[in-house]
Amino acid sequence: MAIEIDHLGIAVRSLAEGLHLFEKTLGMTVSGTETIAAEQVVVAMLPAGAGLNAPRIELLQAAGEASPIARFIEKRGPGLHHIALRVDDLPLTIERLKNEGARVLDEPRRGAGGHLYVFLHPASTGGVLLELIQKEPVRD
Ligand code: ZN
Repeated sequence: MAIEIDHLGIAVRSLAEGLHLFEKTLGMTVSGTETIAAEQVVVAMLPAGAGLNAPRIELLQAAGEASPIARFIEKRGPGLHHIALRVDDLPLTIERLKNEGARVLDEPRRGAGGHLYVFLHPASTGGVLLELIQKEPVRD
């Protein structure tokens, strides 16, 4: 089973603030910005590398006071929020993790581009919020 880094999620107070560093200063390019209503976040994706599967920096800005990103920043300040890994077989990976006692948050959800994803609670991953993403988009 080959696992790849899909993106690193970084919580920012504002996308403008985050983009100042990653876009203006470091010279990265935003590949897309979108609001994910279900998660109450606005995200900007910046590929770090060439090709469609290049890992990305995901800047996360809260889109409301109840946003998990707002709560995260309130508690710890801006910073690394989660690491997202692409896996070949998400249902199988979830099953294996559950068998090992890992805490999978919610059922798989469908994100940008039709990709299925889940989050694992940091309590069962050594303190890192892990996002797992199905490699290929799942078609209905
Ligand atoms: Zn993410």
